Amino acid sequence: AKKGGRGELRFFSDAMNAAAHDALVIDGALRHAIAAGEFRLEYQVIAEAGSGRLGKVEALLRWRSATLGTVPPDRFIPVAEDSGLIVELGSWVLEEACRQAALWRGGPLDGVRISINVSAWQLADPGFVALVEATLARHGLPGALLELELTERVLIDDGPNVRTVLERLRTLGVSVSLDDFGTGYSSLSYLTQFQLNTLKIDRAFVMDIEHSARSNSLVHAIIAMGHSLGLQLVAEGVETDGQARILARMGCHYLQGFHIARPAAPDQLLLFAARRPET
Ligand code: C2E
Ligand code: CA
Ligand code: CA
Ligand code: CA
Repeated sequence: AKKGGRGELRFFSDAMNAAAHDALVIDGALRHAIAAGEFRLEYQVIAEAGSGRLGKVEALLRWRSATLGTVPPDRFIPVAEDSGLIVELGSWVLEEACRQAALWRGGPLDGVRISINVSAWQLADPGFVALVEATLARHGLPGALLELELTERVLIDDGPNVRTVLERLRTLGVSVSLDDFGTGYSSLSYLTQFQLNTLKIDRAFVMDIEHSARSNSLVHAIIAMGHSLGLQLVAEGVETDGQARILARMGCHYLQGFHIARPAAPDQLLLFAARRPET
């Protein structure tokens, strides 16, 4: 680190400037992106582990900016969270997912639950539950068709308030799942403190399940714990047949990942639903 120390420091600060500049540019472009119709949702299959059948779907936000081209969520979501724009963006996601669910009614995808990602800011908004209720009602949807994915951070940030919000969501029939489980703040106490339906086991653990005994036992333990707490389990980032088999054998209820299906436009999902489980 001594050699060329100044150079490294310089490089580091250039990189920081570049990142800050990046964020500013993204922030600017985000401000009119909703009005410009630059967002859409893709849907990724969450399959039943045993049958391979479509269980539910996760909606994932996609942005194609007129000025920046395609920007992945990992780059623009943090910027939208910093500016607070995530609340408006999250409302758009909720509206769009409900619009899609309503379109699917009466067809092969009727009854398939749509799961959307919800950020801490949205949940902290006092009007959030009312917004969910009004959006469902406007599209004539039962709450049972909607699931909200929260990260562990959300639960810690504002414990008591979040608990009430989750209770009210439950009375609407809306499910709640804990996303990226195992990567966050790893206090297990909120698994019993909050009304959760589902745990999503993070891709980081699933990735190594075939080759690392530690990952394997960890996932095994998470699944056992989930079972004993009456929670549904989803494994994220399932990329190989080997992983899928191990997870199914361990009793994981649902599988999500490129091995099953990539996130795709709504029409692709109709194809998935129509295909026979064996093929
Ligand atoms: P996430 O909620 O954990 O979503 C799963 C991410 O993993 C998605 O990335 C998905 O495309 C990717 N993925 C799925 N299967 C596989 C696999 O087998 N292998 C690998 N390597 N990746 C897989 P994506 O769409 O780029 O989204 C990244 C993150 O951005 C999401 O992570 C979520 O935290 C956030 N995000 C996406 N859409 C929204 C949204 O509407 N609202 C909010 N607040 N956040 C969102
Ligand atoms: Ca998610
Ligand atoms: Ca996740
Ligand atoms: Ca993630």
